[in-house]
Amino acid sequence: MNNIASIIDLAVLNGCEVKRNESLKKLTTFKTGGIANVVITPKTVYALSEILMMCRKSNVKFFLLGNGSNTLASDDGFDGVIIRTVGGLCEMYLTDDHTIYTEAGVTLSKLSFFAYDNALTGAEFLYGIPGSVGGAAFMNAGAYGGEMKDVVEYCTHLNSDFQVGQLSSRQLEYGYRKSVYMKNGFIITGVLMKLKKGDKHEIRSKMDDLMEKRRDKQPLEYPSAGSIFKRPENNFAGALIEKCGLKGFHIGGACVSEKHAGFIINTGNATTFDILALVNHIQKTVFEKTNVKLETEIKVLG
Ligand SMILES: Cc1cc2nc3c(=O)[nH]c(=O)nc-3n(C[C@H](O)[C@H](O)[C@H](O)COP(=O)(O)OP(=O)(O)OC[C@H]3O[C@@H](n4cnc5c(N)ncnc54)[C@H](O)[C@@H]3O)c2cc1C
Repeated sequence: MNNIASIIDLAVLNGCEVKRNESLKKLTTFKTGGIANVVITPKTVYALSEILMMCRKSNVKFFLLGNGSNTLASDDGFDGVIIRTVGGLCEMYLTDDHTIYTEAGVTLSKLSFFAYDNALTGAEFLYGIPGSVGGAAFMNAGAYGGEMKDVVEYCTHLNSDFQVGQLSSRQLEYGYRKSVYMKNGFIITGVLMKLKKGDKHEIRSKMDDLMEKRRDKQPLEYPSAGSIFKRPENNFAGALIEKCGLKGFHIGGACVSEKHAGFIINTGNATTFDILALVNHIQKTVFEKTNVKLETEIKVLG
């Protein structure tokens, strides 16, 4: 605990926001999880690196969180430091007339509006994905035919020694919901995105159109982490789950959405235990009935 106290002191000294005994329900879109000892939101990359170095030196576990929209937090909470980029690393600016540099903690919806404001097209697909730029660059987030890999020129990061560096798009080893950052454990601090000049009216109507599609197809009225499973080859997880008769199936407060079987929703009082039990049940049933192994897309915290 003394180690954590010295990390908190350092965080305060570096102007970070610090919250103690914070519920992970507040930090994840699934709205489940226990208590985290400390949540630190650094405002600068320098502060972020100082905190990370101190965690390592003091042998304190940390977890890097963006907007928590692809993360399932343990009911036991997190005995360590959660470092949150959203609300902290949120600088965003044009580097020339068609390139945006954005820090990792900027939300994807703010980024899409910034692109729209500057009549830049190519980022519309990100509108409606409730994540951060860092989380999206890590996951190679994508929707409606677009993926981060199509727009990222390079990512800046802190490497395993917490030194500043960058990787160009070719070095990012982007694949379906996959990036090199899942292997190297570096912390993404920002992304340079190359977009194209476009017509503001067309950009806005594409954004609205994609949002409409989401509202139509997805259970946005419930807490979730979006699609829980990756898309299997030549198939759709939601279609397979539906085919197995699992729509509406629930364990505790975790339920397969009636609106979109690829989503598990928290109907109010779900625990992470319920969600994981439901994930297991779905995987087992789908494999038994269709011989397809469903792989989860979400990351587990704790
Ligand atoms: C309603 C809903 C709809 C969704 N629709 C889509 C969709 O259409 N397409 C899609 O791809 N996803 C979708 N998602 C999932 C999710 O929004 C994306 O995966 C998003 O990119 C996650 O970003 P995040 O900041 O919330 O990540 P988090 O959940 O905070 O983190 C996810 C992982 O990324 C790591 N990470 C976060 N930030 C960094 C960083 N700066 N450096 C290194 N690692 C980092 C975390 O450690 C964790 O392992 C949806 C989710 C919801 C709830």
